[in-house]
Amino acid sequence: MRRIKAGFLAVMLVTLGFISASLPSQAAEKADFQVVLLGTGTPPPFMHRFGPATLVIAGDKYILFDAGRGVTQRLWQDKIPLGRVDYLVLTHLHSDHVVGISDLWLTGWLNSPFGRRKGAFKVRGPEGTENLMKGLEQAYAWDIKTRMADQKLPAKTVAVDAKNISAGSTFIVEGGVKVTAIEVNHGKLIKPAFGYRIEYGGRSVVISGDTKFNENLAEKAKGADLFVHAVAAAKPALLKTAKFWSVILAHHTSPEDVGRIFASAKPKMAAFTHLVTLTNGKIKPPSLKDLYDRARTTYDGPLTVGLDRMRFIVGKDGVTVVKPPTK
Ligand SMILES: [Zn+2]
Ligand SMILES: [Zn+2]
Repeated sequence: MRRIKAGFLAVMLVTLGFISASLPSQAAEKADFQVVLLGTGTPPPFMHRFGPATLVIAGDKYILFDAGRGVTQRLWQDKIPLGRVDYLVLTHLHSDHVVGISDLWLTGWLNSPFGRRKGAFKVRGPEGTENLMKGLEQAYAWDIKTRMADQKLPAKTVAVDAKNISAGSTFIVEGGVKVTAIEVNHGKLIKPAFGYRIEYGGRSVVISGDTKFNENLAEKAKGADLFVHAVAAAKPALLKTAKFWSVILAHHTSPEDVGRIFASAKPKMAAFTHLVTLTNGKIKPPSLKDLYDRARTTYDGPLTVGLDRMRFIVGKDGVTVVKPPTK
């Protein structure tokens, strides 16, 4: 049943022009710069949209932005061992972006094809990141001690190398890849929060993180090949039922405003991720088509509505969107 539904959705997206092209997976394997939307969801525990996680593969570097719910399943679904991730980079410390960390860290330590990390677990993120990782080390001290004694797993591959980074800093320069933190605005009480610009081989990708309408981000995203931005919407009737819904929306960017940001940055390809589509169960959430149509009132460039496991090949001649595999 689910398979039929997913197939229908893919057809619908192609029909609406959400997916500009598709390539066989072999082409994806050869590409030197690509982005995989591992999870395009938010806190609701849906099967079709896992928690926020975006993998950037640049040269031989695998850099994961956020580790939401189900990130390990999504990695291994694409046959990427958890230990292959060189860096985990956090946009901010909201739980939906970090609940997958322990799984990635500890399951990636195991001596199985899906694990096998070779060095320390490297985590970068805004202030609070070092603290968060210290807390996790404490929480899992029993597991670490026990597995080291019992399974003889090495200490060096469960070791944590966590660093707080500051806004504007270029904190990864390795293997031809450069990653720079961009300060974004996720709300007065939700600081710090970052987006990121990733540069490789004369091309660039910008990830918004969670943010309200933010001109600084548009400025920093100018000329990007791919710009992936979070989006949020609700039906007007829902906002009348309780103040709570407006508070959530106020921390994010509406489809029209994301359109404005895209129009100003003019990326070669723009995509929605982190789809906040609010519902109380009675009033339906906005549809993907609603999000798309609303963004179209302010932006007429290339636009894709992200799905879990969608891939973007950031080539020298433009960005190709590869639809999610069907199995
Ligand atoms: Zn979020
Ligand atoms: Zn957030």
